[in-house]
Amino acid sequence: MTKVLDLYLAGEWKQGQGNPSESRFPADGSLNAVFSTATEADVNEAVEKAEKAWRDPSWRNSLPLERAKVLYKVAEIIEANAKELSALQTKDNGKPLAETFGLVMSAAGTARYMAAACETFDQNLPSQRASDILTMSVYEPIGVIAAITPWNSPIASEIQKLAPAIAAGNAVILKPAEATSLIALEIAKIFEQAGLPKGLLSVLPGKGSVIGNALVSHPLVKKISFTGGTSTGRRLAHVAAEKLITTSLELGGKSPTIVFEDADLDIASHGVAYGIFSSAGQACIAGARLFVHQNVYDEFLEKLVTLTRGLRVGHPETPDTHIGPLISESHLKSVDDYVQLAVKEGGQVVVGGQRLTGGVYDQGTYYAPTIITGLKNTATVCQEEIFGPVLVVIPFEDEATLLEEANDSFYGLAAGIWTENYRKALQVARQLEVGTVWVNTYKKFSVSAPFGGGKESGIGREKGREGMLAYMQQKSIYLSLSDQPNPWAN
Ligand code: NAD
Repeated sequence: MTKVLDLYLAGEWKQGQGNPSESRFPADGSLNAVFSTATEADVNEAVEKAEKAWRDPSWRNSLPLERAKVLYKVAEIIEANAKELSALQTKDNGKPLAETFGLVMSAAGTARYMAAACETFDQNLPSQRASDILTMSVYEPIGVIAAITPWNSPIASEIQKLAPAIAAGNAVILKPAEATSLIALEIAKIFEQAGLPKGLLSVLPGKGSVIGNALVSHPLVKKISFTGGTSTGRRLAHVAAEKLITTSLELGGKSPTIVFEDADLDIASHGVAYGIFSSAGQACIAGARLFVHQNVYDEFLEKLVTLTRGLRVGHPETPDTHIGPLISESHLKSVDDYVQLAVKEGGQVVVGGQRLTGGVYDQGTYYAPTIITGLKNTATVCQEEIFGPVLVVIPFEDEATLLEEANDSFYGLAAGIWTENYRKALQVARQLEVGTVWVNTYKKFSVSAPFGGGKESGIGREKGREGMLAYMQQKSIYLSLSDQPNPWAN
């Protein structure tokens, strides 16, 4: 009989009360592991224990450097096991090893950065408004945090929530995506090994609509930190509104990339292809709408198509693979349905446009990197997030129309600009309604630069010092220096 992996409930490894679930390798459908899932009763137990744990004076009064020590250790353990963690994440979601290795190293960097942020965080006195009163404003933890994550970059997005929440002195219940629970359970082991006191972390796999919903609705949960689709995010925002608690929502995207006529077209074509096709397009920040100046449109498209034809779609464990399989059959069908819809709406598929078959492709869910032309920005495939390797290319003539169209989206996550003119790049960057703009590069990240979206791409920012403050609340304290009573005493 296949072993059922335990879940991690408030410092104990045990079987959850839910039905066991499977993790399968998207490259060939083989079984990675069977893992235990939680029920609402498990959620209640984890939240109640988390509430006790974060209020425990030994954690409540812990010095920042003590919390930092745990996170430095987490970073060390992640780095020491980087290859194994990367291999496990590849098994879970099918991303090529080179990509998952990058995500693992970024997770280590996040843990180390949040350790340093926590240790070096000075609480300033606000400017003083009365000579007989000393005013201070202190930051305190929020309490029990619900962290809910998607399947596309789990190790990075999970550490991006856990590290700042723990640095800030909270307790966290992590509900990973159904498809990628294995890496989340490894993260629990890492925090345990790093010495995080019992009860402060639980990892509860299970269905979002059941376990996720029970978690966010629990009265003791005081913040929802969510990364995932916009419709789920909206539902969670309703729950948060009802409970009057705060949220951080990192949601979907339909990011524009813009190639001006003065761009270095070779560099730009590589950047544009990487921006949309890496991770097989399963990235919130995928540059899915491409605007190219009409004077270089034909030349650029030709370069891009040639480059796209040369991309190696293959087994994610083969070292030189550029693009791995999609996460599942149902997701592949949804991507293909969008491509068919694009054609119905008048689009022309200039490369790709179908599932790949033959050899290794027959065992997995591989889709050809696809470029579509002939559509306007108002087409469905330009407005809705496909979350697959599908790029729509649109020519533009003048900057005003370009900006109008680039901003004509429900989403506001990211954008790319390709030009040799940095003055223009900055002017355009300031007018794009998004949370991140890359100029002459794409998908590059710094842990110290806040990340997040506007419009329907989300609320709040992760990373940076603000990323830790998002898990804290301020309290103002007034200390009288006067020996006089308040006025009514006279
Ligand atoms: P999803 O919204 O379906 O699921 C995300 C998580 O929410 C999963 O753990 C799921 O189980 C849980 N969930 C689902 N319904 C729930 C409910 N009712 N209550 C509580 N939890 C619930 O998203 P997905 O398909 O896993 O991920 C893809 C989406 O994530 C895309 O839209 C992508 O753009 C977005 N994403 C955004 C970012 C970002 O930083 N902005 C990063 C990665 C992915």
